[in-house]
Amino acid sequence: MFDTLQDRLQATFRSLRGKGRLTDADIDATAREIRLALLEADVNLGVVKEFVAAVKERAKGAELSQALNPTQQIIKIVNEELIEILGGQARTLRFAKNPPTVIMLAGLQGSGKTTLAGKLGLWLRQQGHTPMLVAADLQRPNAVNQLQVVGGRAGVPVFAPEPGNGIGDPVSVARASIEEAKRKFYDTVIVDTAGRLGVDAELMQQAADIRDAVNPDEILFVVDAMIGQDAVNTANAFAEGVGFDGVVLSKLDGDARGGAALSIAKVTGKPVMFASNGEALGDFDLFHPDRMASRILDMGDLLTLIEQAEKTFDADQSRKAAEKLMAGKGFGLDDFLGQMQAVRKMGPMSKILGMMPGMGQMKDAIANIDEREIDRIEAIIYSMTPAERAKPDILNGSRRSRIANGSGTSVQDVNGLVNRFMETRKLMQQMGRGGGLPGMPGMGG
Ligand code: GDP
Repeated sequence: MFDTLQDRLQATFRSLRGKGRLTDADIDATAREIRLALLEADVNLGVVKEFVAAVKERAKGAELSQALNPTQQIIKIVNEELIEILGGQARTLRFAKNPPTVIMLAGLQGSGKTTLAGKLGLWLRQQGHTPMLVAADLQRPNAVNQLQVVGGRAGVPVFAPEPGNGIGDPVSVARASIEEAKRKFYDTVIVDTAGRLGVDAELMQQAADIRDAVNPDEILFVVDAMIGQDAVNTANAFAEGVGFDGVVLSKLDGDARGGAALSIAKVTGKPVMFASNGEALGDFDLFHPDRMASRILDMGDLLTLIEQAEKTFDADQSRKAAEKLMAGKGFGLDDFLGQMQAVRKMGPMSKILGMMPGMGQMKDAIANIDEREIDRIEAIIYSMTPAERAKPDILNGSRRSRIANGSGTSVQDVNGLVNRFMETRKLMQQMGRGGGLPGMPGMGG
């Protein structure tokens, strides 16, 4: 559903790659791109304005993290702001202290309420609840039948007006269903209500009457994610006419632009609680703002890496090591080990590299990284005296063979490490003089 938005945002982030730092002009240009991407995806204008202003302010503000490069910082901010407009924390159903818990579904006709009743029923049943569905949609000729079919598939009983009883009154049916649930010890009652193709006063009144009759613990507003900006208007109309506690986005599997659905939580101030993404009863789950945001950014792994880099990054240690290195002296094997361990704390080497964007071509190299090699390096450095670590130049033949013995490695291993260290140090000092090291997350480059 969010393909275009994904593509646009990715392109925006790509254009930042390689920049050492972002000027205000860079940030303004990025903000413009993000704004266009969101508008094109049909996100509500008010929401877009707020979103972009927040990203801009934070990107320009003082919260510059030393652990992240500028692109990562922007991605992090956009991610956090997306989670924010999607409602922050995931929220699940509140169950009543005294069963039954009453859940009322409201929304336009065709929004997916009846299907949702079945999905929710199955979901609750799988969690050990004993739900019952209530057919209070007596407007549509086939609605009761449809709910019975859905209930049958979900293995959940359905309470409906008796056939031959004429067309029942949905308010009485709803009221009676609560008594029935108490009698039969169902712990949750899901009331399906009627919808019209458009918002109308009579429909709202009926929903409000049912609400007053059953006193729901949760009113869920079901909205078809494919209907575009109308989703926001409809949500506002239902918020005013009936009120609701949470939103269910249905048809997220569709190919519409979907941005309107992303605006609803922000516009109504009510969380999106569930998402439906298919016609089958299992195509349904709790809505997780953070997962949805990373799906939109299509950068789940990178976001994990950013989080881990921030958690494990020791700014102080890294800065000292970098300073020593720049000064062209004093960068010893201890510092080398410290940096290596800092990166390692983020997780297995192969995984860290795999999470970095643009690492596709390095697949083979990644596969060949041997974690034991790093263990070996650690063992060798630990077998050195502090003087040797600080000044590897003093490592003569007899010292090297003592270290090999102490670390359970061979003299070749020790030579290999020392040579590589010397080369790396020389290279890095050259680059240091050339102004700045190539950015590696968490390396204080
Ligand atoms: P109601 O009028 O609000 O009760 O809506 P229905 O539950 O009858 O759903 C209307 C149509 O949308 C039906 O054909 C459903 O199969 C379909 N539908 C419901 N939820 C989803 C969904 O998440 N994805 C897709 N693709 N179709 C859905």
